Amino acid sequence: MSNKVNNEVKFSWEYLKSVMQTLDSYKVRALIDAKEEIIECEVYDEEEYNKILLKLIDEERIKYQLYNYLRNNQTLNLSNLEAFSEDYDLLLRKTLSLAYLLEKEQLITIQEVYEKNENAEGGSKKIFKDLVVSVDDVNLTSIKPIYEPVKVIFDSEICSGCGICAGICPVDCIMIKNGFGEIDDDKCIRCGLCYHVCPRSYLPVDILNMYQDNVSEYKDYGKIGTFKEAYCARTKIDEIREVCQDGGVSSTALYYLLDNNIVDLALGAKMGEKLWCPEPTIIESKEDILNTAGTKYVNNPNLMLLNQVGPEKKVAVVGVPCMMQALLKSKIFDIDIPSLTNVKYRIGIFCMESFPYQEGFLKICEKLNVDVENVKKTDINKGKFFIYTKDGEELSVPIKEVTSLAREDCEVCFDLTSESADISIGSIGAPSGWNAVLVRTEEGKELYQALLENDLIESKPIDEVKPGLPLLIKIANSKRKKSNSHISKKKENNQKYPQY
Ligand code: SF4
Ligand code: SF4
Ligand code: SF4
Repeated sequence: MSNKVNNEVKFSWEYLKSVMQTLDSYKVRALIDAKEEIIECEVYDEEEYNKILLKLIDEERIKYQLYNYLRNNQTLNLSNLEAFSEDYDLLLRKTLSLAYLLEKEQLITIQEVYEKNENAEGGSKKIFKDLVVSVDDVNLTSIKPIYEPVKVIFDSEICSGCGICAGICPVDCIMIKNGFGEIDDDKCIRCGLCYHVCPRSYLPVDILNMYQDNVSEYKDYGKIGTFKEAYCARTKIDEIREVCQDGGVSSTALYYLLDNNIVDLALGAKMGEKLWCPEPTIIESKEDILNTAGTKYVNNPNLMLLNQVGPEKKVAVVGVPCMMQALLKSKIFDIDIPSLTNVKYRIGIFCMESFPYQEGFLKICEKLNVDVENVKKTDINKGKFFIYTKDGEELSVPIKEVTSLAREDCEVCFDLTSESADISIGSIGAPSGWNAVLVRTEEGKELYQALLENDLIESKPIDEVKPGLPLLIKIANSKRKKSNSHISKKKENNQKYPQY
């Protein structure tokens, strides 16, 4: 009996301590201090503001409870985190995500321990063994807050241009134009929410994979991330087939979701006022879908439209890997931002790199001696950038010769196949006129099944086609290697780099 009371007293003390730390948390303080400015701005109404603040307080409180728990223990490893998860009724992957944040805040250090496993062919494989967690003895209030406005990401040329920061900023002070962002410093309340959701500030890739795979284990997910099933597919809808890039599966998925009122709208990219310069757009009808079909290789911040999605709307997002990362990261570190909780489907597109409009795409047109007005379709395939003209010509240039025109910010991107999506769709690995499709989550699986059951697509297992997954894995690996080498260079030169 006395033991029980002691535990309760200990728990209460730790609880109170974590509440105090939470109220001192940089993000919480910034949101409380700027309540008036936020409500005045009308991005969030008072009820939404209260929900975001309370959820943030809750998340911060659990994080500091974990911190205090770790401080009170001598030997710290994965089993301590498992014990904490059990005590607080959390999934281990949730606890790991909180530990990851504590590490980013420089309150703890986490070391992953691997062992080498020799295989029969004489090679070896790294197998995850344990975590070693050490608690740094610091005064919490003296820590420089890591949650700074994403100006630091823009300035260090690692911004992917995904647009999520502009889409959630509570005072609407971020503008992304031509793929590059700007912050109105006079309006910014320095709440750090943009940094919190940005895929280029910090991105716990292991934990993203755990959420995708619905497990709490450190595993090697290879070069294309976790997936349940892989197919080769193409649309059966004639109108989509006429305008689509390859197999039209992403447009068909949108058609199914909107036509059956499973989502109210989708975010995607349409051709802008300037030819071949895409703009983010809200897709609500079949006509809108047809207007957005076809790949555009110019960067486009689709997620900045999140702040135009009304309340209670169910949303699908079609976008490139960095957008899928931003959405999954925000789901893991969820703070009840209404537009983000409304996202029901993440439809990811394969992406090798993207180009700025003026200094990239138009320069490629110049190189191929084609007027932008005459461009009918663009494609990256078999190591070449293709332009198909309205006059029926097929022009191409080796990717190697134009890769220097790609966005510098894309150089640090490791993800080819939208590893954080529910379903990933692209052309690499599929025969001409078809899509390769990776079904990654339960939501993705249900969606793909529905497309089949409604006779909207033709589908075969990807193993039955050439070039198939081996080519996809090979190209994904080369993107990873390039990204690693660019990140190493940034480290050597003491430049800011994304924390994957
Ligand atoms: S720019 Fe970032 S830090 Fe500034 S108000 Fe917007 S979300 Fe907050
Ligand atoms: S990567 Fe996305 S969230 Fe981060 S700064 Fe760029 S646009 Fe904003
Ligand atoms: S290469 Fe990466 S960062 Fe660049 S647009 Fe594609 S997914 Fe985004």
